[in-house]
Amino acid sequence: MTFAKLTRPLRLLLIAPPGGGKGTISSKLLKQHPEITSLSSGDLLRQEIKNQTSIGSQATSLMQSGKLLPDQLVSDLVIKELKTQNLLQGEKSWLLDGFPRTLAQAQILDSDLYKESSQINMVIELKVPHSVILDRIENRWVHIPSGRIYNLTYSPPKVPGLDDVTGEPLSKRPDDNVEVFKQRLEQYEKTVGPLREFYGKQGVLNYIAGDSSDIIFPKVQKLIEECFGPDGKY
Ligand code: AMP
Repeated sequence: MTFAKLTRPLRLLLIAPPGGGKGTISSKLLKQHPEITSLSSGDLLRQEIKNQTSIGSQATSLMQSGKLLPDQLVSDLVIKELKTQNLLQGEKSWLLDGFPRTLAQAQILDSDLYKESSQINMVIELKVPHSVILDRIENRWVHIPSGRIYNLTYSPPKVPGLDDVTGEPLSKRPDDNVEVFKQRLEQYEKTVGPLREFYGKQGVLNYIAGDSSDIIFPKVQKLIEECFGPDGKY
C-alpha cells in the first residue's frame, strides 16, 4: 500500500493499553514516513536507567512494579526532548508514544505546545482485546537502545535473541509479566478516561480497533491520509 505525502505537519498522540501495539504501529508509520520523529516516554526512561542518571534511579523500581512516574518528572523529560530535537519549531511532524498518560501530563504538555502554536492535532486510541495483549506481553522482546520490538509469535528476530539491525542481544523488559500487566491495565483504565475527555473536547480524538497491527495499521494510514494527505480535510 502506498502512502501519500503529508501536506501539513502531523502532531500525533498514540494511546493504547500496555502491550496494545503503540510501538509496532509507530515503527510502521515511521518506515512509511521518515519525516516523522517519534518520541516514546518509556524509551526515554529506559535510556535514563541505562545511563544511570538520577531520573533513572527514581524510575527503576516504579517501572518494574508497573507504576506511573510522577507527572512533572515525565513531562519535563519529554518536553525537554521535544525542544532538544527542535520539534516545536517550524513545520515538523512528530508522534508521541506513551506520553501524556494522565490528564495532568496532557495539561502540562498542552500549555507548552500552545505557546509554540504546535498543539497535538491528532490523537488515535488503539482498541485491542485484553486476551491479545496478554499474549503480546508474554512474547515481547526489545532492543533497548533503539526501542525495536519483537514478538516471538508475530514478528520474531531473524536470529533468535538478537536485534535484526545491530545484532545486539534483545532483552525481556522486567515489567513484561502477567502480574505487572494487570496492574498496568488497571492503571490505564483509570487514567485514560480523563485523557479521552480532554482530547475529545479538542476535537482531535479517534478510535481504531483490531486484534493485530496488520489490521490496525492500514486503518491508521487511511485516517492520517484522509486528514493530512493532499486531499486532507483539515
Ligand atoms: P511504556 O514503555 O510506554 O509501556 O512505559 C513503561 C513504563 O514507564 C510505565 O509502566 C511507567 O512506569 C513508565 N512510564 C512511561 N511513560 C510514562 C508516563 N507518560 N507517565 C508515567 N510513567 C510513565
